[in-house]
Amino acid sequence: MNADMLRTAVGLNWAGTYQYQAAGIAHAESIPEVQRLVADADRIRTLGTRHSFNDLADTTGTLVTVTSIPADVELDPTARTVTVGAGTRYGVLADFLEERGWALHNMGSLPHISVGGAISTGTHGSGNRNGNLSTAVRALTFVGPDGDLRTVRKGDPDFGGSVIALGALGVLVRVTLAIEPSYLVRQDVYRGLHWNELLPNLLAVTASGYSVSIFTDWVSEDSHVWVKQRVDSVDVMPAPDLFGATLDHPSSPPLTDALDSNLTEFGIAGPWAHRLPHFRLDATPSVGSEIQTEYFVDLDIAAAALQALRPLGGQMKPHLVGTELRTTAADELWLSPAHRQPVLGIHFTWHNHPDAVAKLLPQIEQALVLYGGRTHWGKLHHQTAGSLIPLYERIDDMWDLIARTDPGGKFTNDHLDRVLRPR
Ligand SMILES: Cc1cc2nc3c(=O)[nH]c(=O)nc-3n(C[C@H](O)[C@H](O)[C@H](O)COP(=O)(O)OP(=O)(O)OC[C@H]3O[C@@H](n4cnc5c(N)ncnc54)[C@H](O)[C@@H]3O)c2cc1C
Repeated sequence: MNADMLRTAVGLNWAGTYQYQAAGIAHAESIPEVQRLVADADRIRTLGTRHSFNDLADTTGTLVTVTSIPADVELDPTARTVTVGAGTRYGVLADFLEERGWALHNMGSLPHISVGGAISTGTHGSGNRNGNLSTAVRALTFVGPDGDLRTVRKGDPDFGGSVIALGALGVLVRVTLAIEPSYLVRQDVYRGLHWNELLPNLLAVTASGYSVSIFTDWVSEDSHVWVKQRVDSVDVMPAPDLFGATLDHPSSPPLTDALDSNLTEFGIAGPWAHRLPHFRLDATPSVGSEIQTEYFVDLDIAAAALQALRPLGGQMKPHLVGTELRTTAADELWLSPAHRQPVLGIHFTWHNHPDAVAKLLPQIEQALVLYGGRTHWGKLHHQTAGSLIPLYERIDDMWDLIARTDPGGKFTNDHLDRVLRPR
């Protein structure tokens, strides 16, 4: 089918809080179709499942999405890899793997995001020993500016710049990820973790499970903690308390009004694919009409960074659905916020209050300057090249890679110029 026939108006991001400016979107149904589209375009960017919160994906030219190309999953048990269409949702891939006894090392909070979009922004789950989702990548196949296919493998000199590439190196059509044998995970909630216990014990709290999330509203003295533990059997029971916080009974009242029926199951071990994500694939994740923001700080100074943010709690609270704190292990990816440093992600889900959030972001960013706070690439922020470039030591290598791969700048956009291009 001719991709031109499939062009439609672009519309909004998933949360309904960003209006794409591109003139239209082409829904490619095959790799050759992507190749033709790219070769014919002057400016083109890729859109995944629209779960980002800013203009990162946008373009003054055309958008293309590969989410309609069949997943065509290739499992290689010997190499312990799986290769999949880049537009495939993580939840679809996770179910495919689980049914065959295999697993990924981690998942983001929602399984609805595309593999290509998630790895392009360094999407992460949690766990002191878990790299972000991009660290599972073993090979990538892009459609380059001339429409040619180009594969980059782990070990190639440009690999470190090619995974979290923010869409700047072409349209990703196939992705190979590392897999491991399937495992069970049990998730439990601890309520009542006091700030006075959390701050001095932050590393120990985040090390208390395979994947740990701490939820706070900044104002209450107590946080609650979700601990996802890898277990060998469904009979393994969690510790009764965690630094003074007490284990929740699964029949306790909901955690928040906004979330509950869409969450994965607590209090009973189950497959990794249905416990590591917070949200179920068959339900609408999070709250829907929302804005998200997240900043990363090095883990060894994270407690001090949290202290620096607490005075803003009163201003933040009326606009905040909640804050989630998660850890990510260090990696070697050039644009990773965890490049060579384990980090704490300080995440904010905001109500759809754009004016209030616009006033709060500069204050949050100012409070985090001393701690090298750097944005999640896919979330709303006010940071620009002036503050971000000094935090990324491989930035010149990245622009060199972009210039070699896409000399005409077909895949770059205003967002990349604003936040990453050296002046
Ligand atoms: C409810 C909710 C929960 C979230 N939870 C988490 C979380 O737990 N952890 C976390 O880190 N983030 C989280 N996010 C953010 C989200 O994971 C990232 O923004 C992710 O990049 C979204 O993937 P996407 O497929 O929607 O990509 P899009 O938002 O559509 O695009 C993101 C970027 O990827 C590029 N891209 C997309 N597909 C391709 C491709 N095939 N080839 C080349 N480039 C491509 C785009 O050009 C753009 O630069 C959440 C978002 C929402 C809405």
